[in-house]
Amino acid sequence: MNHFELKGGELACEDVSLAAIAEAVGTPVYVYSTATLERHYTVFRDAMRGTGHGEPLVAYAVKACPNLSILKTLGAMGAGADTVSEGEVRRALAAGISAERIVFSGVGKTAAELAFAIDVGVAEINVESEPELNLLAKVAAEKGARPQIAFRVNPDVAAGGHAKIATGKSDNKFGVSISEAERLYANASNHAHLKPVGVACHIGSQITDLEPLEAAYGKMRGLVERLRGEGLSVERLDLGGGLGVPYFHSPTPPEPAALAEVVKRALGGLDIQLAFEPGRVIAANAGVLVARVIHVHERPEGQRFLVLDAAMNDLIRPAMYEAYHDIVPVKPEAGGAAPLAYDVVGPICETGDTFARERILPPLKAGDLVAFLSAGAYGASMSSEYNSRLLVPEVLVKGEAWAVVRPRPSYADMLAREPLATWL
Ligand SMILES: *Cc1c(COP(=O)(O)O)cnc(C)c1O
Repeated sequence: MNHFELKGGELACEDVSLAAIAEAVGTPVYVYSTATLERHYTVFRDAMRGTGHGEPLVAYAVKACPNLSILKTLGAMGAGADTVSEGEVRRALAAGISAERIVFSGVGKTAAELAFAIDVGVAEINVESEPELNLLAKVAAEKGARPQIAFRVNPDVAAGGHAKIATGKSDNKFGVSISEAERLYANASNHAHLKPVGVACHIGSQITDLEPLEAAYGKMRGLVERLRGEGLSVERLDLGGGLGVPYFHSPTPPEPAALAEVVKRALGGLDIQLAFEPGRVIAANAGVLVARVIHVHERPEGQRFLVLDAAMNDLIRPAMYEAYHDIVPVKPEAGGAAPLAYDVVGPICETGDTFARERILPPLKAGDLVAFLSAGAYGASMSSEYNSRLLVPEVLVKGEAWAVVRPRPSYADMLAREPLATWL
């Protein structure tokens, strides 16, 4: 469920017309709904509270949509943050999320990033490899610190909506094998500068079939039980993120409640604090990308291109993952003329800059506004200035109120960032 609905015949985000925002801010522009973010977070947290493991740590995966106002909205509801870079840790802290609720993940944390995470005292540094463990131990020893760590385990389970976002097979770059985790956990437990507190997994993104998750959770349970059997303390089990969202109309991905049932089945009776790292399921349906039609180009041969002012630099998911986004007119015509098939494209000089092929849409003309639905996650966060297009702005709506939470830079801003080499 989300809060993008037709009001007075045009698409609104909560109580604000998307056309009004487009008029004021220009297009393309991302628009997020506070009510939807809050609802998704609450539904997820409540489902996981019901699994019989006490209060879970729900660490929102910052990379899905890292805008400070989004983080602050979620942080105010008690969300933690799952981070994958120093920049993301800094964002979470800046948004008021306390370090005790921050998880630091990622396969290639640098010494400087690890030092920063130790200094601020994050809840858990998820260690992804033995070299990283050694680096962390060295950095911690230099500081005389003993950071809390968890081992990111690669449970060797295939899952996820696309090969580029599957992370849980043994040939992916993420994590250590279960047997490695056992050995490293035992070693680290005796280390003066490392404090293992848990194990973690995250097997992929846009997961719509819960079976691989259940298999992975079962393997994680076995690992926890074996570690405890060796007398080691394991306080927390971090089950990652990955739950899919309905980009397309079928099959409908499972709800958090169904995931909670899987957790109950796989982990029932295990006394351990659970952590989750949901990103997409919180943010995707809480955002849309609004764009304007520049031209409709009809070839005599019959192909019909809808050329938008949004491009792959603003929303890269279709180009990168062959992802599907619903595209809807912001002001649908009453009466409804017969729909037409459009190739929906952006202005960038690459054939990859195609959002959809032969998409059936109501007839559109230059100047019309369209919205890409379910664009809140991995939308703005993956945007760039490719083709020297200005970074896409972001707007957050709450009821009747709205605010620009990342303004569109000016061309002067863009050029000013690049000092010329002194010899030029
Ligand atoms: C990206 C990521 C997530 C979030 O994944 P979603 O599919 O957006 O829920 C969680 N944990 C880790 C370690 C990640 O890299």
